[in-house]
Amino acid sequence: MAKVKISEDNESLQRIIEKCIDCGQCLETCKSKNHLVNEDCINCGQCIMTCPMGALVPKYNYKEVLANIHDEEKITIVSISPAVRVAIGDEFGFEPGAFLESKLVGVLKTLGFDYVFDTTFGADLTIMEEATELVKRMKKNENLPMYTSCCPSWVLYMEKYHPEDLHHLSTCKSPIGMQGAVIKNYFASMKNLNPSDIVTISLAPCVSKKSEIKNDENNDYVITTSELAMMIREQEIDFKTCKEQAFDSLLGKGSGAGIIFGSSGGVMEAALRTAYFLLNHRNAPEDFFRLEKVRGNLSIKEATIDLGVQTIKVAVLYGIDNVNKMYNALKEYSFVEVMTCGVGCVGGGGQPVLPVQKLASIIDARSKSLYEHDASLDFRNSYENNDIKRLYENALEKPLSKKAGELLHQSYTDEASSIKITK
Ligand code: SF4
Ligand code: SF4
Ligand code: SF4
Repeated sequence: MAKVKISEDNESLQRIIEKCIDCGQCLETCKSKNHLVNEDCINCGQCIMTCPMGALVPKYNYKEVLANIHDEEKITIVSISPAVRVAIGDEFGFEPGAFLESKLVGVLKTLGFDYVFDTTFGADLTIMEEATELVKRMKKNENLPMYTSCCPSWVLYMEKYHPEDLHHLSTCKSPIGMQGAVIKNYFASMKNLNPSDIVTISLAPCVSKKSEIKNDENNDYVITTSELAMMIREQEIDFKTCKEQAFDSLLGKGSGAGIIFGSSGGVMEAALRTAYFLLNHRNAPEDFFRLEKVRGNLSIKEATIDLGVQTIKVAVLYGIDNVNKMYNALKEYSFVEVMTCGVGCVGGGGQPVLPVQKLASIIDARSKSLYEHDASLDFRNSYENNDIKRLYENALEKPLSKKAGELLHQSYTDEASSIKITK
């Protein structure tokens, strides 16, 4: 039966051919979620989640990461993406959605990483830059709608299928892109470390991010939640009894806005809180901290948002199939968030593989857990993060400054010619 073709040089995923029974489920999944031309691939890894034989897996990098941990000359710095902390428990018998942040830090320190940081710091930085970019575009009324750029599969889809619209994508790097840049530049200089001794690792729910970093000198490895579980087992670490620990300082703190990045609608809500502040010089009203219209597991959500000086229409989508269905209608909005995976990164292709019939309720539990954590935090706005304020004071000056542009922003290329039947 026809199955998705995964090329040898795919950096995100691979097929263990001996396990494959040619059932065709992967092709069905890809068609229903992405509906791409022929057997093109945008690296989302959603087919991993439905393969009944475990024949599709991430392209593993965890052994290289272990080798770096054991190399005395190297300083290994791992950063944890929001959606990992609410999914790793599925591998070790916790309730779906269990919020295991401190436990995860303890496990990573036990594995031997030199520093453990929180990618929610990178998410806060993304919001500072992206909300400023949105406000600038709104004031000039140019390049609207603005599309989010933190999902590499969505960005690749745009580069391949809509290169004429690349100016709509935010130029912001993703949170891991920003995190790596800040570690190898700002953190290294604050700690007097040689950047070439530093190995940066992102622990992510995502296989696509393995492809995202292929030309990024600031990011060395991405390992997925499921790879981490393999590392923990192979190193014979007892996850349940491992001591809880706190993140390392400087880049170890994110706001509630940074935490909700892991769920569909989270980037939108986080960015709107900061955009409101930038436009009105005061905190957003209470309802911005529970924007129900952009939350939840609906795959297409929309809202009209009163930003004080201006009202804007926003849309939140996940699944490229939905993007295809309403691509032209997206132009009616001012700001659009797109994630490729189901309910956003909580349903990413690097998360633990679970029985398909339980997947939807478990993904919902992960999303709920992130929002509950946001609600429990003292500070829920990216601009209230003192570590972020210090970073701008000491190094970047202000969002969209020349230095911020060099370190934190990116450009896009027309990849239409690369759409092909992979072999
Ligand atoms: S879903 Fe898995 S077992 Fe079925 S064809 Fe695809 S890779 Fe093979
Ligand atoms: S990784 Fe995503 S785009 Fe690529 S074959 Fe699998 S489902 Fe399709
Ligand atoms: S939605 Fe998240 S997990 Fe899925 S491809 Fe995009 S960034 Fe990766």
